[in-house]
Amino acid sequence: MRSAQLATLRAEIEEVNFALLELLSRRGRLVMDIHRVKSREGIPIHLPDREQQMLADLVKRNRGPFSDETVRELFKQILRASVDLMETRRERDLQVSRARRPADLHVAVGDRVVGRAPVVIAGPCAVESEEQMDETGRFLSSRGVRFLRGGAFKPRSSPYSFQGLGAAGLKLLRATADRYGMLVVTEVMDPRDVELCAGQADVLQVGSRNMYNYDLLRELGHVARPVLLKRGLSATLDELLWSAEYVVSGGNESVILCERGIRTYERETRNTLDLSAVPLLRAKSFLPVIVDLSHALGRRDILAPMGRAALAAGANGLMVEVHPSPALARSDSQQQLDFEGFDRFLHETELTGYAEHAGVTTSTWGAKASDSPDWQVATRQCEAGSPT
Ligand code: PEP
Ligand code: MN
Repeated sequence: MRSAQLATLRAEIEEVNFALLELLSRRGRLVMDIHRVKSREGIPIHLPDREQQMLADLVKRNRGPFSDETVRELFKQILRASVDLMETRRERDLQVSRARRPADLHVAVGDRVVGRAPVVIAGPCAVESEEQMDETGRFLSSRGVRFLRGGAFKPRSSPYSFQGLGAAGLKLLRATADRYGMLVVTEVMDPRDVELCAGQADVLQVGSRNMYNYDLLRELGHVARPVLLKRGLSATLDELLWSAEYVVSGGNESVILCERGIRTYERETRNTLDLSAVPLLRAKSFLPVIVDLSHALGRRDILAPMGRAALAAGANGLMVEVHPSPALARSDSQQQLDFEGFDRFLHETELTGYAEHAGVTTSTWGAKASDSPDWQVATRQCEAGSPT
């Protein structure tokens, strides 16, 4: 007798559960409708005052048996879930979202493409002199590298450190690149310098410290130059994507994301290279993702294994700092590769196709890359050798 009653009550409870679920789903659909209106009218997703009012009204109508506190907690959960629903929706609505465009974006830079086979961006931390740039350009171009980096405007932690050569440095960089058929990648720090830099550079870099510089990002939304956007020192991947959204929503779709390490408690490396960022960013967005090994690691000895790992994780390219005499460099001397080190790096990352393409003998690397029986398989189809 008793168990028959229990069965009936349980059946009733289940019915209530289903009815509650129906109501929750209906509430969720309403929330999504509200989100559409809010987006259209620019109203924030989260309105704490309205939430407080709703909770107060619910508690006022509470006739038990649940306590007011329990009712408040239960509805807080429901409100939280509703905000989450709107945020997920907003995420999918981002212009840089993979959900909006399933195919990878190929960013055209001059006659090259970023977003297909891996590219190598190399050059000194800072533009220092004509000789330094000429030696570097001549060497790198002989290795098939087409992207020449170098800072003219340097974001330095100390205001007393070398700040770069500015406009004169930009000119030197451009002249070197033109002499050796290369493309210029350089950082722009100030919205007021965007026009000047866009006049000289093929790719405008936003440094880690400026990922949150929304005025700069907005300005870059209006230029006809690809933007290489670095992840902030302690930025989440969503924050990086929102920064990219600033540029893309301004009308400039050509954005390349760059993982360059994040600050953690670990001191063996300058930053901690977050390689999980590579497949995650590529899953969340269609934008190409490159990895700056030098600023992530702050040391030379593990660049090659981490470069291999980055490519294995799906990076569309690698950035490394190269200087004719790193010991004499005016910034980041501990992490820049000399020319011999860069040759070894190309060899060890199996990006030797760059040099092969440029018709350079590889004997200075020890074993010739092509001696390896599996060379054809092991060597990645590299950007220098691929049709654009
Ligand atoms: C740079 O690439 O020159 C640089 C300063 O890097 P980051 O902004 O990643 O520190
Ligand atoms: Mn540097």
